[in-house]
Amino acid sequence: MGKSSKDKRDLYYRKAKEQGYRARSAFKLLQLNEEFHFLDDPELKRVVDLCAAPGSWSQVLSRKLFPESADQNEIEDRQIVAVDLQSMSPIDHVTTIQADITHPKTLQRIMEQFGNHQADLVCSDGAPDVTGLHDLDEYVQQQLIMSALQLTVCVLKKGGIFIAKIFRGRDIDLIYAQLGYLFDHVTCAKPRSSRGSSLEAFIVCQGYNPPLDWQPRLDANTSVAEFFQDCHAASYDVAHESRQIAPFMACGSLDSFDSDATYHVERTETSLDPVQQPTNPPYKQALQLKRSGHLNRAV
Ligand code: SAM
Repeated sequence: MGKSSKDKRDLYYRKAKEQGYRARSAFKLLQLNEEFHFLDDPELKRVVDLCAAPGSWSQVLSRKLFPESADQNEIEDRQIVAVDLQSMSPIDHVTTIQADITHPKTLQRIMEQFGNHQADLVCSDGAPDVTGLHDLDEYVQQQLIMSALQLTVCVLKKGGIFIAKIFRGRDIDLIYAQLGYLFDHVTCAKPRSSRGSSLEAFIVCQGYNPPLDWQPRLDANTSVAEFFQDCHAASYDVAHESRQIAPFMACGSLDSFDSDATYHVERTETSLDPVQQPTNPPYKQALQLKRSGHLNRAV
């Protein structure tokens, strides 16, 4: 969670800290759930949270799947596995795996945790580091979604749900088309806590329904095109791929805060500390060098 003045005036930033969430993104998942109710299903047992650090989505999942009021029988076979490139501080009832979602071994590690049972829900809030080169950033983001989707189709049960962050760029309709072949319903959803000024949105794919004779296999030497080759539906020939538009839905009640607005916070309100300090931030080395007087500015 940043500490820029914009962030400080964003009420979701403050509310996240008040409610013990590590990031304001928690409200995006909560508002998606207000509309689609995927976390309210009592049959929801196994969930994978891809690109999960620092862990606010995992916190939401943990609170929903393991409520304090639940009795032991109810929660016995529930499991949450969270994966990220970065290390994550522990969260109750969540198994964390530090791994790259684009690597096939990560699938194995998830399946081991689930004792080879399939997942009911896979969510991914993945975002690569942005370079500022717009086309490159969009390309890398789309590759990350495709990697999340490849992993998902190998782990998700029939009828399961996939939710992923997308940026509504030029070729997003190709991804909608591809998802439309694999899921019964695909919706593009924008929670109120996601800034309207950002292209960010979430695809909510319900009812996983792959072609009957398709056996997806993840392997480091297989390209995305080869992976989906036998799933005629998802053939990756951009030139001939049909494009689709997914229905668009705004989520979160109308009286929830507007993330693009700035709110007046009473002077009497004290500043709150972050819920969880970053475990291994990229600026750690620079801070150490600065403290020891060895940080040289580039000329
Ligand atoms: N949902 C998280 C939360 O609520 O705290 C926030 C996720 S953050 C916006 C995006 C995350 O994607 C980063 O932590 C980053 O490390 C992760 N990520 C990006 N590429 C990844 C990859 N190839 N494998 C695993 N994680 C990745």
